[in-house]
Amino acid sequence: MSVKPMSYPLMEKLVALSRRRGFLFKSSEIYDGINAVYDYGPMGVELKRNIKNLWWQDMITSREDVLGMDTAILMHPRVWEASGHVQNFHDPMTECKKCKRRYRVDHLPENTAVCPECGGELAEPKQFNLMFKTRLGSTDEGAMDVYLRPETAQGIFVNFDNVVSSNRVKLPFGIGQLGKAFRNEITTGNFIFRTREFEQMEMEFFIRPGENAQWLEYWSQERLKWFVSLGIAPEKLRLRPHGKDELAHYSSACYDVEYEFPYGFSEIEGIADRGTYDMTQHIEFSRKNLHYIDQDQRGEKIVPAVIETSAGVDRTVLTVMADAFWEDETNDRIVMRFAPKVAPFKAAVFPLFKKEGMPDVARRLYEDLRKHVATVYDDGGSIGKRYRRQDEIGTPFCLTVDHESLNDHAVTLRDRDSLEQVRLRILSDS
Ligand code: ATP
Repeated sequence: MSVKPMSYPLMEKLVALSRRRGFLFKSSEIYDGINAVYDYGPMGVELKRNIKNLWWQDMITSREDVLGMDTAILMHPRVWEASGHVQNFHDPMTECKKCKRRYRVDHLPENTAVCPECGGELAEPKQFNLMFKTRLGSTDEGAMDVYLRPETAQGIFVNFDNVVSSNRVKLPFGIGQLGKAFRNEITTGNFIFRTREFEQMEMEFFIRPGENAQWLEYWSQERLKWFVSLGIAPEKLRLRPHGKDELAHYSSACYDVEYEFPYGFSEIEGIADRGTYDMTQHIEFSRKNLHYIDQDQRGEKIVPAVIETSAGVDRTVLTVMADAFWEDETNDRIVMRFAPKVAPFKAAVFPLFKKEGMPDVARRLYEDLRKHVATVYDDGGSIGKRYRRQDEIGTPFCLTVDHESLNDHAVTLRDRDSLEQVRLRILSDS
């Protein structure tokens, strides 16, 4: 699909809101930014952290059969030869001879020979490797070329034996991790949908070969359910099987979890049957014995097959933001209708006036609440302005302390979406 960056009103509104309220900024903005790299501001980092924690909770903490890891970004260059990335991690690229714009050939309509922007002639496609190369070592002679990892998965495969020998695990089991990945993408755009530095949440599930289809089905359903659990509208999510021509070099079957963005259904997570490809390659390239020894089957030696779940943190952030964005025209406000569990703040406390006694009650309520949930204290500007601010960062509940609160120990709780207000008695923790 050919996508014109920033040409969708919703995306433009999200970019503006992100900047205005401190969700996301262009990286190095004071130097005019760097293409397709973003910084998370104070609101964005909370939203992102909540998403990562919910993934970790769902995929690692709450499961008996999945362990966590955190492997390094820099790895031995042989890893990327074994994995096939040096050979195969290319996208076909073409360039317009007139305006010099670059395109991914598979993002252009089939058999296009002219530039969609200026009508100029497109050059013969070239294969473009997406890995960032850097040098490791301080002297020219001693230094070696290394890559910034383009996926976190390989860190898991090369540690398979370390995990098996240091933990009591039996097939089937998984290893998950989240962390940064880097891809020198040819075309970028649509805000944080496709960036050059991003984070992934990946899990490699090791199984007996032959059980692939059932586990691929299981994990596809599990992962779809997780996105629904974040409060994303189920009717805007779908699971799409890959056609044979779309499969990555390591994969024999794959489902994408897709979300309906303004520019069409697009991938937010891939669930792939990687077969025994990765483990076989690492056994061959490292010459190490990375087989799983099945003690229940009298020491049978197995090269496990792998079902991978690979989600983008930033694409999930974008999905949650796009899905939550609501222009409430009746009440002339913009609301981020985040599910409370992903919202940067769960509650806001407002003292109505800076009158004696009132800020004390409000501060005490704030101090009590923030021991339990992320809470913000706001005593600046009119109450209407304070509500608008919280609506735009998606705080589900606002609590206003007024004159009466000093007498009746109650506050007004206002619901972000329905605007319903109720009087609520407060009980102090102290
Ligand atoms: P695409 O076809 O969109 O380039 P992909 O199929 O190459 O994606 P995978 O290699 O399957 O992506 O990566 C798994 C996940 O990592 C994706 O579903 C996406 O959420 C995330 N991801 C991949 N590339 C990027 C990127 N450049 N920016 C942000 N997230 C990314």
